[in-house]
Amino acid sequence: MIKKLLIANRGEIALRILRACREMGIKTVAVHSTADRDLKHVRLADEAVCIGPPNSIDSYLNIPAIISAAEVTDADAIHPGYGFLSENADFAERVESSGFIFVGPTAATIRVMGDKIRAKEAMIKTNVPCVPGSEGAVPDDPTKSLEMAERIGYPLIIKATGGGGGRGMRVVYDSSDLLESITMTKTEAGAAFGNDVVFMEKYLQKPRHIEFQILADNYGNAIHLCERDCSMQRRNQKVVEEAPAPGLSTEQRNHLGNILTKACSEIGYRGAGTFEFLYEDGEFYFIEMNTRLQVEHPVTEFITGVDLVKQQLLIASGERLKIKQEDIVPRGHAIECRINAEDAETFIPSPGKIQRFHQPGGLGVRVDSHIYGGYTVPPYYDSMIGKLIVHAEDRDAAIARMEGALIEMVVEGIKTNIPLQRKIMKDTTFREGGAGIHYLEKKLSQQ
Ligand code: ADP
Repeated sequence: MIKKLLIANRGEIALRILRACREMGIKTVAVHSTADRDLKHVRLADEAVCIGPPNSIDSYLNIPAIISAAEVTDADAIHPGYGFLSENADFAERVESSGFIFVGPTAATIRVMGDKIRAKEAMIKTNVPCVPGSEGAVPDDPTKSLEMAERIGYPLIIKATGGGGGRGMRVVYDSSDLLESITMTKTEAGAAFGNDVVFMEKYLQKPRHIEFQILADNYGNAIHLCERDCSMQRRNQKVVEEAPAPGLSTEQRNHLGNILTKACSEIGYRGAGTFEFLYEDGEFYFIEMNTRLQVEHPVTEFITGVDLVKQQLLIASGERLKIKQEDIVPRGHAIECRINAEDAETFIPSPGKIQRFHQPGGLGVRVDSHIYGGYTVPPYYDSMIGKLIVHAEDRDAAIARMEGALIEMVVEGIKTNIPLQRKIMKDTTFREGGAGIHYLEKKLSQQ
């Protein structure tokens, strides 16, 4: 069993991981930048090591500094959280070659999933439904590219195989724009990702975002923990997430869940992971796999009763998965609102000192946040300062509970998006359930 864990992250997720360690009797090492000395988990950890200046490149992305911190503190494992180095295959490799346990899949798996063409190939091989497309790189020959596009049909999307974070993609509506769009995407991808290989697939026009959580151990056992609907997005960033997905039937869930757990066993997946899909007209289309814990994991924890971080740590320690698929029976409905330090209308970040903080409470209310009264939100990192998650017997009750919790939550001294979240909870289309990924953006542009 892991005895001492280094948490290679900051903010709410570092605190979340620390809490799981405490319950499991695992000692913790916090690593932090010079701007993050006052983070809650830094104060609560058994040991803390400063790994560099505020800029992430010099601290949270500084692989040698993190490995040395693990060495000097005699940690035996490293948890990467999400963002930062969590999907960096070179980091996973360095962690393991330096003799530590990496809490996540193997570097080889991360590498395959980080390359969209290879990931799609692996999915097609294991019968996971994908968006129809070029199934491989776009050819150099313009005539062949035009023929291929004709076969796929317009509109289509050109995507960089090495792309990420919603960058390196271009939608093409007409054949007259195809060749120029390919050239432009290739040039951008080459500059941004050091890899100019692009592929094409059908562009879905009104999809929802539905993703499946899975857990797999080192011995070929895998289970799925149902799905989350994360369609409320702005600029490809999730704003509200919920589980289960409104309107999805048990048959649909079981059918796809079954394919995914089989795929995990076949590709030798290890740890927690998420298969992301676009969902349109009753069909699922794989877009990517996230080989790490996700921001929205608490909604799954609420409906399944499974602590995903503890499971990650058990799996990383070499334990067998004790939970069986039949133990996973979704209960009620959970919703998460991301709370950001930003203006609710202009979305301009609002770092600064929090003068007063009151967190909501009551039955079925969970706050995952590192902030406290007197804490200063630094300007250097992501603007998310926490997550408010609720659970209730059904979706309507969960929305009502979230509305109450948002009213109760007080953050003074900085601006937050709480007013926007309150508006979303009141929105008729959101309340009906099943809105597409472009809905929120459109609504915001009409204000
Ligand atoms: P990234 O790794 O950059 O996040 P994804 O492949 O996950 O890239 O796609 C990001 C977003 O782009 C999706 O959430 C969706 O909004 C949009 N997108 C990607 N592929 C398609 C597609 N085939 N049709 C419609 N939208 C798409």
